Amino acid sequence: MVLGPPGAGKGTQASRLAEQLGIPHIATGDMFREAAAEDSETGRRIRQIMETGELIPDEMTNELVRERLLRSDARSGFILDGYPRNLEQAATLDQILDEVGTKIDLVIKFMVRGPDIVERLRGRRVCPVCRAVYHMATHPPKDDEVCDNDGAPLIRRDDDLEETTLRRLEVYGEQTRPLYELYAERGLLTEMDALGSTDEVFRRLLAVVGR
Ligand code: AMP
Ligand code: ZN
Repeated sequence: MVLGPPGAGKGTQASRLAEQLGIPHIATGDMFREAAAEDSETGRRIRQIMETGELIPDEMTNELVRERLLRSDARSGFILDGYPRNLEQAATLDQILDEVGTKIDLVIKFMVRGPDIVERLRGRRVCPVCRAVYHMATHPPKDDEVCDNDGAPLIRRDDDLEETTLRRLEVYGEQTRPLYELYAERGLLTEMDALGSTDEVFRRLLAVVGR
């Protein structure tokens, strides 16, 4: 499991690690962004909530994760990214893991300083086609504002705009932070410095997971 504030680089690192380990990267944010793109009542509802920076209701989120973890490709392991986000979700996750017959081996806390977060979110650009994540200062695309993989023009996530960012950070502080204590008490938590280039952080991450 990867935990950390928005903009800590969890998604980039987790997807790279998942690829290297050959296990699925389960990112609720990505799943919700996909759902939000759909032209349906649910799609609209999710879009509205995401734009405010609030969390999607637990019931919906927990059900999404339960279905995902029950799929056969999760049997040989998975990386959870963006879930759980609060204590209620953490309690449900315990139940789901029991159901599936597995457990969390390691919880990695991505450590970044407050001022860096705002900077990271401001510079972040994503590819709407392949979802690659860039940063205009620290990890820019080779060509101006287009994706290295497919040439699609990069965009800013709607929820990376300034007002939403502040609310997302508040929600993180109020609801997600208590999870550190929970997983520390269980002896699962490892802190990792998340500052530096993508490659630097990835090397650190591999060391943390013992690869
Ligand atoms: P992320 O990409 O993880 O920053 O998530 C983007 C947005 O998706 C969040 O601000 C929430 O609105 C929603 N979201 C993602 N994961 C969860 C979750 N576990 N519980 C509730 N909402 C979530
Ligand atoms: Zn792309």
